[in-house]
Amino acid sequence: MKDHIVIVGAGPVGLVSACLLVDEGVSVTVLDSCNDLPRDLRASTFHPPTLDMLERFDVVPSMIAQGLICPEWQFRDRTDGVIATFELDRLNDETAHPYRLQCEQWRLGEMLCERLRKSPLADLRFGMKASAVRQTADHVEVDAVNAQGETETFKGAFCIGADGIGSQVRKAIGAEFEGMTIPEIYLTVSTTYDFSEAMPDIANIAYLSDPDEWFVLIRTAKIWRALFPVDSGLSDSEVTSPELIERLLQGAAARPEPYEIIHKTAYRVHERVADKYVKGRIAIAGDAAHVNNPLGGMGLNGGIHDAYNLASTMVEILRGAPLDALGRYERQRRRVALDVVQQTTLRNRAILNTRDPASRAAYYDDLRKTVADPERHKTYLMRTSMISSLRDVAQIV
Ligand SMILES: Cc1cc2nc3c(=O)[nH]c(=O)nc-3n(C[C@H](O)[C@H](O)[C@H](O)COP(=O)(O)OP(=O)(O)OC[C@H]3O[C@@H](n4cnc5c(N)ncnc54)[C@H](O)[C@@H]3O)c2cc1C
Repeated sequence: MKDHIVIVGAGPVGLVSACLLVDEGVSVTVLDSCNDLPRDLRASTFHPPTLDMLERFDVVPSMIAQGLICPEWQFRDRTDGVIATFELDRLNDETAHPYRLQCEQWRLGEMLCERLRKSPLADLRFGMKASAVRQTADHVEVDAVNAQGETETFKGAFCIGADGIGSQVRKAIGAEFEGMTIPEIYLTVSTTYDFSEAMPDIANIAYLSDPDEWFVLIRTAKIWRALFPVDSGLSDSEVTSPELIERLLQGAAARPEPYEIIHKTAYRVHERVADKYVKGRIAIAGDAAHVNNPLGGMGLNGGIHDAYNLASTMVEILRGAPLDALGRYERQRRRVALDVVQQTTLRNRAILNTRDPASRAAYYDDLRKTVADPERHKTYLMRTSMISSLRDVAQIV
């Protein structure tokens, strides 16, 4: 129990934490309420420093083989075309991966699970829902319930709550999840249609601004994904109705034949950050600690950066550092969630949906000036690729 950590949640954040800990010789139990890893379509963007971090698990070559390297991304005006194209090779001196990689997050999850299954230090327990978390001065206890309703208690030196947006662990430490819910629903659809036929100068990742109906187009290895904001007054069946999807896609690129849809999902988006990340020996990370809109691909990446910081801090404590080193984790990673992730994703949303013509023109002007100036271009990429945030918060003690 002394060198054992209980992780609640086998999403990307829980699994990255587990891999890092077992590599440092710390045993883990990972509990997940699902019976197996879900293969649903969620995040697919991996930023450069996240790939640098994942390199040590030998998963990046396989992610690249299954994914799509995107050396550029764009802001476009829906009517007038390209506003600004950002070139990630300007980060060549800063990262081993100067590009965004598009690869569905479940692919990473499956690779990390496979790696953990081979480790004698990892105990993966699917179908176990954490129902209570408590602690004493020197250990934690997590109660988890299986499908038959039987409760088992898991003990460890620490508990990591990587149990997503509805986190039980966040509730157990008494944290408020402060923030707001975005008024529109986000609809993601994937299609076999190649949008570069309609927009030959489109980058693999493009944010298309429009005062009435903005959208995002992202290419993965085999298909394109489109994200549209949808009126939250519609019923669940209306939001994903074939008629609405066809209308939105025809609006994005008109074509004589109907679109072939591979997948669709609609979800509510929140901008929230927990008012505390740590209580004693229990800490939260990833979506359990902060959620944001997906415009910029920062939620999953920020969560993996949390996992690195948190797991490394727990290893330091197990090797003799004081328990309050966890306070540094909270100070550093909460600052990134508030000042970088939330600010950047909200600004991206504003660039896409601002109605006032003068404000739109000002955003466009700023983006054009940013890409035209090599120093500003690189600074912008350092921030949006989340390299700066990792370096900046290292100064916070
Ligand atoms: C539909 C959808 C679409 C998304 N699309 C995008 C996107 O396009 N771009 C983007 O950047 N981000 C997107 N996101 C967000 C992104 O997927 C998350 O930021 C990321 O998954 C966070 O990882 P995590 O490990 O913190 O949490 P999760 O991936 O949510 O994993 C949490 C895990 O905890 C488990 N769990 C929960 N409660 C318990 C419990 N009590 N006991 C045991 N286990 C529990 C769950 O089963 C789950 O496996 C999307 C999210 C959703 C839901």
